[in-house]
Amino acid sequence: MDRVILIKYGELSTKKGNRNYFINTLYNNVKKKLASYDVKINKDRARMYITFKNEELDSIKAVIDKIFGIHMYHIAYIVASEEESIKEKVLEILKEKEFSTFKVETKRSDKNFKIHSGDMNNILGGLILKNIAGVKVDVHNPEVLVKVEIRENNTFIYLNSYEGSGGYPVGSQPKGMLMLSGGIDSPVAAYLAMKRGVVIEAVYFEAIPHTSLEARNKVIELTRKLCAYTDKINLHVVNFTPIQEAIYKYCRGDYCITIMRRMMYRIMEMITKKHGGYVIINGESIGQVASQTLTSMNVINAVTNIPVIRPVACLDKLEIIDIARKIDTFDISILPYEDCCTVFVPKHPVINPRMDVVLKEEEKFAYEKMLEEAVESIDTFTITSANQEFSDLL
Ligand code: ATP
Ligand code: MG
Repeated sequence: MDRVILIKYGELSTKKGNRNYFINTLYNNVKKKLASYDVKINKDRARMYITFKNEELDSIKAVIDKIFGIHMYHIAYIVASEEESIKEKVLEILKEKEFSTFKVETKRSDKNFKIHSGDMNNILGGLILKNIAGVKVDVHNPEVLVKVEIRENNTFIYLNSYEGSGGYPVGSQPKGMLMLSGGIDSPVAAYLAMKRGVVIEAVYFEAIPHTSLEARNKVIELTRKLCAYTDKINLHVVNFTPIQEAIYKYCRGDYCITIMRRMMYRIMEMITKKHGGYVIINGESIGQVASQTLTSMNVINAVTNIPVIRPVACLDKLEIIDIARKIDTFDISILPYEDCCTVFVPKHPVINPRMDVVLKEEEKFAYEKMLEEAVESIDTFTITSANQEFSDLL
């Protein structure tokens, strides 16, 4: 083993009181995500080290790139903290590279190591100038930055830095219940919430036979994509057909969407309490459709006191699409299967719904029992990134 992946904690370090909790959460997440690889993972207060097999490096990097809480990582060579070993390794690494300017940056955290950082920079710089033809030092904008970190037993030497996905480790916050449709917005909302460390469970409202099993498959596939950022996600499928049919039978056409969304929120509140969630998360974006004007949001949100987090509320559609492409959900989201909102959309949904009208319309049918039945008959699937047969989940 002469190389390791060296992960620095970045933003985590500012969370003084919670530091250990954050580090342990990240450590457990890394361990789970790399369970199928031949790796050893060690951590201390400042960083994490992962040993790896060379042939697995690219694939491990792809996994690490999606673990929240990692801001920066390096592929570092390890040698014993001895002057000769360090010199030998630095030369060996640089001889393989083509470059014309460089800079050495030494950090000595082992104060028993006799040579001071500045002196070590000079020693290594001189060594490189002497042994590699045509190169010179550039302290401001070097092509190659050689970092040498001298620690108690080992010294880490690396040239390149890779950006991680940032955020906080999933699990550093408790559970939030995500309203996941087959659209573009809600998977993006899920990604942004997970980036803040939230554990998510997804809830999908379906209205068979008005919606198809393909629509459900779409949601399952979206959930699977989201699993790249966590280990597994529970997906609760709610049979919304009776409620939806009742709304369209008894209520004013232009208020159907408003009432339908209030029913969804009521069910979300029940599921959130049942499963120990703290917030509801959805893909609403201000002004995008009639049910997402501020007036609509106010009237719809009035059915629950549980906080509703709307991570994409203030993003433009194009900004949302950019993220959807980045997290690879876009192509699934644009598949054409109708979901229960699109099937029932009235010609002119109300843009500024009035609370008194909504309350009057909702008195027209006994929905409470229906809500309870919907929650009792939920089907729950546990989705992972691993390939599962669709048929197992239908
Ligand atoms: P689009 O990306 O086309 O806007 P959308 O899924 O955002 O699709 P909207 O009608 O804008 O559709 O719904 C707003 C939000 O409400 C969604 O982002 C989602 O969080 C939630 N939602 C809508 N329909 C459903 C559904 N059938 N099941 C679960 N959540 C839903
Ligand atoms: Mg939307």
